[in-house]
Amino acid sequence: MRRSTPFAPDPALHARLEALRGVSVDAHRASDPVDDVHRAAPEDREIVGFFAALLAFGNVKAIRASIATFLDRLGDTPTRAVRNWDAVRRGRPLKGFRHRWVGEEDLDALLRSVGGLLDRFGTLERAFAEGDSPDAETTLPGLAAFADRLEAGAGRDAARRGVKFLVAHPKRGGAAKRMNLFLRWMVRPEDGIDFGLWRRPSPSRLVIPLDVHIAFQARVLGLSRRRTPGMAMALEITRALRRFDAADPLRYDFSLCHLGIHGDCRGRRVAHVCASCPLDPWCRLPKRR
Ligand code: SF4
Repeated sequence: MRRSTPFAPDPALHARLEALRGVSVDAHRASDPVDDVHRAAPEDREIVGFFAALLAFGNVKAIRASIATFLDRLGDTPTRAVRNWDAVRRGRPLKGFRHRWVGEEDLDALLRSVGGLLDRFGTLERAFAEGDSPDAETTLPGLAAFADRLEAGAGRDAARRGVKFLVAHPKRGGAAKRMNLFLRWMVRPEDGIDFGLWRRPSPSRLVIPLDVHIAFQARVLGLSRRRTPGMAMALEITRALRRFDAADPLRYDFSLCHLGIHGDCRGRRVAHVCASCPLDPWCRLPKRR
């Protein structure tokens, strides 16, 4: 069995992460998919956030273009369109839509499913909370129940490759990055990036949306020793981050992720890049002589 000593947070690193966060929020929001959620009307942010998070894979430029096209197809009142999807879909508003390997039929299945959840629960917040276990360490039980509901609502289409990928059921062992991103947007307190729209679950139970950038930063900062990205790594990183802020462990997710997205960290030592990296003193990658 793997034995691990708990991550020991360095106060100086904590201060540096806090400073990095302050800069990153202003500098990078406009280039992040979350910006599409900020542009939505308050009453549409839950639904726009859900589908924007689901489409957040691939390069940022392609993601933003696909989100814009998708929202355009839903029209001016996306939540109303989803609530009435059974009628709206007859006009095939998504005809020809494709984002990488996810196509019109995959999104149509998810839209039917989400429309059914809105019918039954009123909001996705309630649909999530009904299956969650508030005493659990993390939102993982809630996420699994939510994924069950999404798959049930998709019916036979739940077996489609694109639908499976979009739902990213945690029972399959993946990190469920995009679902955890959606939860972060909805649950973390409003800070110019995230929205604090949901009253439940507590932000302290969120799990980090693990992508290649976070996996790299976590390894070089000692937040995780795992090599394989997956739910086990996401949980290990989240536990380490709780040592900085138990009430808000995902506080530094956005800024750490954007270090990689914008090339401020190349995922390897590059002398002129690392020279201006705010995390260089803590980076465990060996320095070339
Ligand atoms: S020191 Fe270099 S490799 Fe390490 S995190 Fe910073 S930019 Fe990335």
